[in-house]
Amino acid sequence: MVRISIAVALMAALASCGGDKTPSNAGTTASVSTQSSNDTRVAKDVFGHISTSSSQRSESFGGYARGCQAGAAQLPETGPTWQAMRLSRNRNWAQPGTVDFVQDLSRFAATQAGWDGLYIGDMSQPRGGPMLTGHASHQTGLDIDIWMLPPDRLNLSATERENLSSISMRRASGAFTNASWTPQHEAIIKAAASDPRTARIFVFPGAKVEMCKNATGDRSWLNKIRPWWGHHYHFHVRLKCPAGATGCENQAPPPAGDGCADAQTWVNNILNPPPPNPNATPSKPRGPLTMARLPNQCLSVANN
Ligand SMILES: [Zn+2]
Repeated sequence: MVRISIAVALMAALASCGGDKTPSNAGTTASVSTQSSNDTRVAKDVFGHISTSSSQRSESFGGYARGCQAGAAQLPETGPTWQAMRLSRNRNWAQPGTVDFVQDLSRFAATQAGWDGLYIGDMSQPRGGPMLTGHASHQTGLDIDIWMLPPDRLNLSATERENLSSISMRRASGAFTNASWTPQHEAIIKAAASDPRTARIFVFPGAKVEMCKNATGDRSWLNKIRPWWGHHYHFHVRLKCPAGATGCENQAPPPAGDGCADAQTWVNNILNPPPPNPNATPSKPRGPLTMARLPNQCLSVANN
């Protein structure tokens, strides 16, 4: 009995300092690793029910689709140039630098004709991690969904924020933009892509091709704009790991170039779908992420 309680106390002590300020490969986290490697709890059931951020130093751990966040900040529900939408989801949490980014981009958006600022969709849960519904990514406090609907007022009530819908920008299943797409959408997405804090932006293929057509002068910002499924009611900004965040995993940067030929291939495949590959092997479903498959630090993020 005595031996067990000492072991528990020791593990608790190690766990509490593990996620706090220790980088992923430092010695003390090894003990936490042993502990979480047997943790078969489904991670979304742990992270999906925590309503506040952890009282730890702000840090992202792991990758966008397999991680968590310590010491998250909450985007204020309303600011001079933004409103957070769908407050009932409690997903307006992110790393402090991400909250800064959203506020900065919303100030730019407010300079655009017809835009009072930005309506902000999902960011992350208070401690990041997998969600009970929705996204595979958005786990580390570095992903932001931004509505395509131009805000014409920033005094929406909580109920209005539940019921208002964004609008789709696509036509022909995403091969083209529709009549709601404006130069202001392009200017805002270009501003987001030109920001050095941004790693990638996901948007439907027709929007990327349209931006490729309209871009004049420097085209380097197009590199970060990546065609993807969905993303016609919102665009998705993914930020790089903050400098010095040793436990945070960046994605490899997009391939060099403006990516416009690749986006055109996406569009061509929408318009003329290629026959299914007969040799394709269906990927094995892996089941939900368990606590053991998240970075070790995520255990202490969940516990603090
Ligand atoms: Zn998203």
